Parts: sequence; structure tokens; C-alpha cells
Amino acid sequence: MSPEAEPAWTTAVVWFRRDLRVADHPALCEAVTRAQRVVPLFILDDRLLGGAAPARSWFLRRSLAVLDADLRARGSALLVRHGRPEDLVPQVAAEVGAQVVLASRDVTPLSHRRDAAVASALERDGRRLGLRPGLLLAEPETMLTAAGSPYSVFTPFWRALQAAPRRGVLAVPDRVPTPLDFVGDRSLIDKMADLAPPLSDLPYPGERAAHDRLSAWVAGGLAGYGTGRDVLSGEGASRLSADLHFGTLSPLQVESAALEAGVDATPFVRQLAWREFYHHRLFHRRTGDGSPDSPLLSAFRSEDADPYAVEAWREGRTGIPVVDAGMRQLAATGWLSNRARLVVASFLTRHLLMDYCIGERHFMRHLIDGDVANNRGGWQWTAGVGADPQPWFRIFNPVRQGLRFDPEGAWVRRWVPELAGIADRHVHEPWEAPVAPDGYPSPVVELAAARERALAAFKSASGRG
Ligand code: FAD
Repeated sequence: MSPEAEPAWTTAVVWFRRDLRVADHPALCEAVTRAQRVVPLFILDDRLLGGAAPARSWFLRRSLAVLDADLRARGSALLVRHGRPEDLVPQVAAEVGAQVVLASRDVTPLSHRRDAAVASALERDGRRLGLRPGLLLAEPETMLTAAGSPYSVFTPFWRALQAAPRRGVLAVPDRVPTPLDFVGDRSLIDKMADLAPPLSDLPYPGERAAHDRLSAWVAGGLAGYGTGRDVLSGEGASRLSADLHFGTLSPLQVESAALEAGVDATPFVRQLAWREFYHHRLFHRRTGDGSPDSPLLSAFRSEDADPYAVEAWREGRTGIPVVDAGMRQLAATGWLSNRARLVVASFLTRHLLMDYCIGERHFMRHLIDGDVANNRGGWQWTAGVGADPQPWFRIFNPVRQGLRFDPEGAWVRRWVPELAGIADRHVHEPWEAPVAPDGYPSPVVELAAARERALAAFKSASGRG
């Protein structure tokens, strides 16, 4: 039966997950159009929140409070429960007498397992789970090569994505018809609205703030993105990553706003396509494709990881200024520019030859935008494994990266105060200074030797040794 031919529902639950907005929300719009009553629901799931960075957990909870306020302005409210979705979604659907639960479809392995379990629990009671778009620009099954397989190389994927059809951006429903007696206990939401930020410099949570950020970015930053995006401080980037992760903005809203800005938005929408690429890869990995398997993996010293060097990396005291500035900024603010992520990841996986999973886990414990697809994609790219990675013989030189993308050393000095007084010409290589800067460590590795060691290990692992 086509969706149009189905009878209208008396009650639909809209189960929010990584789509914390009321605008451009296909599942919410469909529920409002087709059901007499709509119950918006969020489940706080400890499996997702347990290992989440404090900044991420805070952004999520405060964004939920804003979502609740936005729903209230439309005659509705957000029902929040704490526990396992497999138990609670069917329970709530039964309590409110819903025929259907609608949600925006996610692609991570955990969300797939969770949704399959929720769908079968609902089916046992004669209800169903309907998954709708909203997290991506195109659904993974619609983006296949002429041979019918998933793309494993970014550039052809990007070309195909540009040509792929888009749905229209959806307006905010005027009213969401929720019987408010369904939304009982308010204590969880009330607590969220008052949570203090755990770190400095965090973006203000919620959909309204996200739209303000997007408008300011499109008006003031987008035109300079092509040249500014690589600045190590991140000043030339949009800082929309937490919004895109939690869905306070949809990628379609961001892409449309950029394309309608009247400037060349290509470099920016191309980066959005990397997000899409990594999400599609994660989806296809579940169905057996998208493997990160690579002979290079054997080059990484996962068994005999050097605990001292790893700890120095985590704490930002490797003695390599751009690496230390990046790791300290990450710990202090929960965010890093893409260039800084590349540099610190490259140092861990290439110069220290450590397993990329060590870095992937550390990022997930700190990033406000920690995202399974983008984070794994970024780490695998840098390590030289996974889909369309950086070639094994290209190794970022952290000194040159600093000289090029933080030429005055202002960003390094901000995060590494031990280097505040050092001359500009030594800020990225303080070991060359006539007097060693007070309190700053010597490098944990000698860069040229570490590079040669990595090249030899990769060469032998890739069968060219
Ligand atoms: P902008 O440069 O303004 O880009 C806009 C949006 O495009 C981003 O918000 C993001 O959604 C997407 N995007 C941009 N670059 C990339 C990219 N290379 N890969 C995937 N998506 C991209 N991004 C995350 O959202 N979460 C992560 O956990 C994450 N971990 C990363 C780990 C490593 C090792 C690397 C190298 C990159 C990682 N990225 C991650 C990608 C990228 O660094 C961030 O998305 C970006 O720095 C966020 O800042 P922004 O919003 O200002 O980005």
C-alpha cells in the first residue's frame, strides 16, 4: 500500500534521536499531516550517553530543552524517558495508543541494531516503526555506482551527490496536536534547561541558536572558506559540526543556505559531502562493504603501544607545538579545526605509529561533535586505511603545517603558554631556540627519524618493502 493510500492514524509517536529540530523534519511533518494526535518522544539511552564527552552530553540535553520549548510554542511538548529504547518506545506507543512510531533514519551500527529491536517489539503489538529521511542529503541505497556498488572513492561520489535529487526543505508545522496529559513528568526536561556548560567556548545549544550560527556563517564566513578553512585556529570554518551531529540543523538546510548565498559555496558543500560519504560508508560497512581492512594496519604498534608517548599526546605535552596546541584546545573546548585534527591524528598514527583506534576513542571522549561516521572516517583517512585514504607515503610535517597554517604562531601561543615569549621563528620548532623555553618538554620523537621509521613500516606492510 502506498503511504498516501494508508488510512490516517489516530496517534503517531515521533521518536527524536539525532534530529533535534522542528524545521525540515520529514517524520514530524508526516505525523502532523497524517495523525490526529502526535506524541514527540526522546529516550535518554545510557549506551549512547555513557561514553559521551561532557560537552556533547551537555549540548544534547540543552538542545532537548530548547526542542521542548519549541514544541510547547506549537501546543505540544517533549516526552522524555530514561532507559532502553527497545523497552520504552513500545511502552510509550502502547500507553498513548499509537499505531505508528516515526523517526529519522540513522546509519550507525548501533542505531541499526536498536531500531531493528524496537521495530520487532512494536510489531509484536501490531504497531510499526517508520524510518524517514532527515539526517543525510541522500539515502545510501540511492547512491550507487553504475555497477550497483557503493562508492569507495570520494571524487566520483561527490560528483554523483551533486547530481542527486534533493527533497524540498520543509517548513515548521504551525501546530503539533499533542494531548498534554500524555506528557506527564517534567522533571527530566526541567533539569536539562538549567545545565551549566562544562567547558569554555561551547556553541549555544538548540535549533534557534543553530539558525543564527548558520545565517551569520553564510553572511560573513562562507565566501572566505576556500582559503580560510585550513587555518589551524578554525576561525575560517563554520563551527556547525555539533548542529549537524545532533540535527539542530539538517544537512539539507545547511547546503541550501550555502548554495543560495550568492557566493561560491563549492569548497564548503564539498566538505559537507565528506560527511555524507563517511555516513554512507558506515551504512555499507554493515552490509559487508566499506571495510577499513588494509595491510597497513599491521604497521601500527597496537600491541606494544608506548604508554608514555600516548599519554604525552593525550595531554598535549609531546614537545611538538602544533600537536600540543591541538590536544590542549580539544580538552579545553571540545572542538578542533579540521586541519588541527589532521595534524594531531597524523602525528599519533604516523610519527608515533600508534593504532588509530586509540585516537578515535580519545576524540569521542572529548569532541562536542563526536560522530561515529565522521570520526572513524577522519581517523582512517589519516592513518592511510579505510575508503579513499591519504596515501601511506604522505606524512604531514607538523612544523611545516604550523608555519603554513599558523604563520605568526598566535594559535600555538594561545594554547601553549610556555611558548608565549619565544621568537616567531622558533615558535613551531622551539628545540632550535638558543635557550629552551621554560617548562616546555623536549620532543617525544625526533621528527625526521620518526618519519623514516613510519615510511619503512608502511612500505613493508604494503608489500613494497
Ligand atoms: P566546516 O569546515 O565548516 O565544515 C562544515 C561541515 O561539513 C562540518 O560541520 C562537518 O559536518 C562536515 N565536514 C567538514 N569536513 C569534514 C570531513 N573531513 N569529514 C566529514 N565531515 C566533514 N567531524 C565531525 O563532525 N565529528 C567528528 O567526530 C569528527 N572527527 C574527526 C576526526 C579526524 C581525525 C578528522 C581528520 C576529522 C574529523 N571530523 C569530524 C571532520 C571535521 O574535522 C569536522 O567536521 C570539522 O572540523 C568541524 O568543524 P566545522 O563545523 O567548523 O567544519
